[in-house]
Amino acid sequence: MTFADGALPTIKKLTVEIHSIGEGFERTDLYPLIELPNYHQRCRNPRCRGGGFDLGEMVYWTLLGSRSTKNELSFACSGFQESAQQMEDCDTQFELKITAEYNDVPSVKEAALA
Ligand SMILES: [Zn+2]
Repeated sequence: MTFADGALPTIKKLTVEIHSIGEGFERTDLYPLIELPNYHQRCRNPRCRGGGFDLGEMVYWTLLGSRSTKNELSFACSGFQESAQQMEDCDTQFELKITAEYNDVPSVKEAALA
């Protein structure tokens, strides 16, 4: 199941904070957003190739899918960077703080009584 299946309408508020730490840079991006689907967070390492991650999928699978209200996670970039002689793993680390509020959804029992 993905966002496209209609998971988003139950979300009232969603905030995503992405802290990127790598060689020569460190920055925080704040997303008070609802337009997460298909959003690809790019790696901040200018030498990184194929890095970053799919923010929408990440938020869905680690939080929204289970209707959790808060989650923090950290992981390494999956991209590669060119060094003098070879390709090596990108050393960027991402730290995410995600909080969500949901609209009330009637329980099965309430729906049956309505
Ligand atoms: Zn990277």
